[in-house]
Parts: sequence; C-alpha cells; structure tokens
Amino acid sequence: MKLSHRITNLTGGGSDGWDVFYRARAMIDAGEPVTELTIGEHDIGTHASILEAMHASAMGGHTGYAMVPGVDALRDAVAARVQARTGVPTTRDNVLITPGGQSALFATHHAVCDEGDTALFIDPYYATYPGTIRAVGAKPLAIQAHATNAFQPLASDIDAVASGARSLLINSPNNPTGVVYGRDTLQGIADVCIRHDLWLISDEVYDTQLWDGTHISPRALPGMADRVLVVGSMSKSHAMTGSRCGWIIGPQEVIGDLINLATHTTYGVPGYIQDAARFALDQGDGLEREIAAPFRRRRALALDILSRQNTVGLVPPQGAMYLMLDIRATGLDGEGFANALLDEHRIAVMPGESFGRAAAGHVRVAMTIADADFASAIEKLCQFAAKIS
Ligand code: PMP
Repeated sequence: MKLSHRITNLTGGGSDGWDVFYRARAMIDAGEPVTELTIGEHDIGTHASILEAMHASAMGGHTGYAMVPGVDALRDAVAARVQARTGVPTTRDNVLITPGGQSALFATHHAVCDEGDTALFIDPYYATYPGTIRAVGAKPLAIQAHATNAFQPLASDIDAVASGARSLLINSPNNPTGVVYGRDTLQGIADVCIRHDLWLISDEVYDTQLWDGTHISPRALPGMADRVLVVGSMSKSHAMTGSRCGWIIGPQEVIGDLINLATHTTYGVPGYIQDAARFALDQGDGLEREIAAPFRRRRALALDILSRQNTVGLVPPQGAMYLMLDIRATGLDGEGFANALLDEHRIAVMPGESFGRAAAGHVRVAMTIADADFASAIEKLCQFAAKIS
C-alpha cells in the first residue's frame, strides 16, 4: 500500500551522521563501558518536589482530559514568565501548551507553511529541523552559519535566499553550537523577516542555560511580536524531558488557530503534567539556576583543559549544554574522528556532520556526565587529537 510523501520523505534519505551514535549504543548494549557524550539529556532526574506536585495532582483527580489550550493556571504562569523575561505584554491568550517543544516546532510550521512552501532554517541545526519542515509538506532550505563568524548567522546570507520563503526557524541559545545570538544578529534577522514578510519561529528551549551575555527573544524587538512564534519547553529548564510539556507564544489569532490544530492532533497535555509544570515555574529562577549549574561548571572545566593545548579548537559556548569542538587539525572529518575516538577510548561524541554541513570537521560534546568523568573524557579527547594530528 502506498504511503504519503510526507511520511516516506520525512528524513530526506542518505547518511545523516548518526551511525557513530548507534554504534555506541550497540556497544553499550553488548556490555562495553562507553563514556556517552552524545544526547542532550541531564544526568539528573526531574526534581522530587516537581514529582510530588505531579503525584498530588494525579491523586487529586486531574487524570481526565485537560483543557486543550492548556490549563489556565499554567498558561498564566508561562505568560507571566515570558513577560517578565522579555517585557512584551503577554497573556494566556498568547500561549498554547504543547506536548514538548518538538510538537510546538511541528505545529508552528504547520500553521505558517502550505504544501511546497520554502521554510528556512540555520545550519548547524538541531537534528529534527529539516524533517519537521518536510513533515508539514514544506521544503527545508538551510542557511549556513560559519565557525569563522562564531556560528552567528549573517543577515545578508538569509536575505539572499529569503525571497518567496514563508518562514525562518532560529535557535538561540543554540543546539549544537552553544552560540547565543547577539542583538545585531537578531536585529539583522528581524529586518530580513520584515522585508520578506517571513514568519520567524524562535526556538528558545535553552533560554535558562546561559553562560555568557544575555538572551534576547526576537519577539521583543520593535515590530516583531506579530510575526514571531516562540517555542518553549520545560524539558531543558526543569529537567522534565520525559514529561513532554512545552508551549508556543504568539499573536492571539494564531494561537486560536493552533488550538484548533491541537484539538485535531494532540488533544492537549495531561493535567497532572501541567500542574507539575506550573509548580516548577512557581519555584522561580532559583530552581532553573540549580538545574543549569552542572553545565556551567563543566563548561568551565572544559575551557580550562582546552586552554592548555592547541590541537582542538572551540568557539566558547555562550549557552546550552554542548561544546562544538573543532578537530580539523587532526586531518579527520567529524565522523572519522568520532569513530576513531570511540574505537580507541570508548568515548562517544556526535560528528558535527550530524547537525549540517556548517559543522563539518567538528564534534559535538554533550556536557551530561559527572564533572570528574567529563573532565577526564575531555583530557583524553585532546590527547587523542594531539596524537593523531
Ligand atoms: N529544540 C531544540 C534545539 C532541542 O535541542 C530540543 C531537544 N533536544 C527540542 C527543541 C525539543 O525538546 P522537547 O520536545 O523535549 O521540548
């Protein structure tokens, strides 16, 4: 039986640079000790107090269908958080609660792109981006942000391909590079969006993991609130990856249409998860800082180790839980280096090529294991790079 193009072409085919990851997983399954620095997931679980709130909500009976747009208390809490962080007036009517940021990425593209429309995104990119765009029937078009420009995209590069496109997806703080877009970068992007009448989808799921500089949401830039859809999530800020709770912030009319989409797709997010999320947000930024603290420490450890050698390069990450290491001095590409490191030292990192062409010759390291083990893995990686270069 024939399946739709949307589903059969979703991943685009060809090698996607994830072979090293699957090889590492197979080694682990076979009982080999592998140091895994691949996936962006905290090494802690969800805080016990959040789980207690979840339990109390479920025991209290919040286990039936919840309100499709999200329960009012959580929509209000998200709106208040966004307004406090950005200064942009935001109410519950600007908020749709979604099952995680990923479904928000899908819903926002579904809302703004018709079949065959071009949807722009920045390379290096989070692995699901092109597939998410294809899944709604649109055509993904990548714009490279170069290591030589610290992975900040150039407005002129976006402008050059923006004519006729419908949307632009950006992600700051960025997975996989850790770059945080500066005001100039964002203003340049905003100008291009206005000039070409593009929707701007702003993935801000790492907005609490900021090591250097300030996070600016493009929704706060002059004239942008009506064309920006912000994707947010509890996954990274509150170590709630498995709870699947995120949101979309946007103009009220768009949120209205997105609620209609949610009614016909997800039918909302479980009430006890939403109550736990609201409890977590009510704890304020103290809890957010506590959850981000291990990554801040490990980043400092890595910068110290990297400063004492000169084979492996790094654009110091300003945010998020990753390091994008430049291993071109070894003469290998990211995939070759990652495979060799796995064979030689049983350390698994992601080839930069898994995140697009702009990250070729790099490897992404997730800072998601205990400090001492992490520091030891970075030391070994540097020694290995020096040995083979
Ligand atoms: N955007 C980015 C950049 C991510 O790295 C992730 C998860 N790794 C997501 C969105 C989706 O996160 P979730 O669906 O868990 O909210």
